[in-house]
Amino acid sequence: MKGRRIEKGPPERSATAREALLGVLREGTFSMRELSQRASLSEREVAEHLPHLERSLRAHGERLVVEAARCLACNFDFSRRARFAPPSRCPACKSERIASPRFRVERDD
Ligand SMILES: [Zn+2]
Repeated sequence: MKGRRIEKGPPERSATAREALLGVLREGTFSMRELSQRASLSEREVAEHLPHLERSLRAHGERLVVEAARCLACNFDFSRRARFAPPSRCPACKSERIASPRFRVERDD
């Protein structure tokens, strides 16, 4: 799916970065890695922005939907902890095969 182009260049302020991220989220469902690439942010920055974004979306009648990360080895569900930035290793079985969380924006009706 081809969407609106995101302006390239260093994010001057966090508000700008957050807007870029929001623009990406409105185009579909993306993993953390896809969000970071499309918004030109590090995955760490994306993880830092998401909780703020979630709050401002809620104020506009929208919500951030998170498909939680999951361990591919034992099916451990990360929805209760580290929702935005799950650890690289499963706390239950120590496997490093973690499926990335996926994110999208939905409008509340
Ligand atoms: Zn596991």
